[in-house]
Amino acid sequence: MIRLPAFCAALILATQTPVSAAEGDVLVQAGHEGRPASCALVPRRTCFLGAAAQGVRERDWTTIVADEATRVLREHGYAVLRRPADYLGRDSARAAVFLHFDGAAPPCASGASVGFPDTTSRAFVDAWIRSYTARFPFRFVGENFTEHEHRYYGFRLVDAPEKLLIEFGEMSCPAQFAWMQPRLRELGDRVAAFLMERVPK
Ligand SMILES: [Zn+2]
Repeated sequence: MIRLPAFCAALILATQTPVSAAEGDVLVQAGHEGRPASCALVPRRTCFLGAAAQGVRERDWTTIVADEATRVLREHGYAVLRRPADYLGRDSARAAVFLHFDGAAPPCASGASVGFPDTTSRAFVDAWIRSYTARFPFRFVGENFTEHEHRYYGFRLVDAPEKLLIEFGEMSCPAQFAWMQPRLRELGDRVAAFLMERVPK
């Protein structure tokens, strides 16, 4: 095997990764998707690999949910910008969602939550919380409850009036894990329904 210096590897990765600067109706990002390899694209960004529990990684789940939401939205005629964790360029859309699952120590200290920048409307945030907490039978732990949620780097990668980071629940909590695991596609359908309601065609 030929060993390349790190900057070479980053360069190769950069040339293989399309630079995105697209316009769409909605942007859907799967949290942590493509890491750790994609971190070489943006060396100064902290390379969080995401939560893991019971042999499952957060990014295995976020991609399933994001793909399902994208499938439904495209079926309804939406132009969807489907993004991984790291990419170059800046998009524009009418709304953007960033999909995550939480991990906590001790287990079950967390639950579902949302993060958003100050520009996101109250109506957009409330609509998601109302729709999700009606289904999710565990704790909703709050809004922007960490600085990481409030100042998520993904918010800076898209121009959109409405941006929302969604934490569906805590995968390190066995009861929440058991509830979420068989419902990943359903979560994607909920995200799609929410976006179609808030961002009508
Ligand atoms: Zn995450």
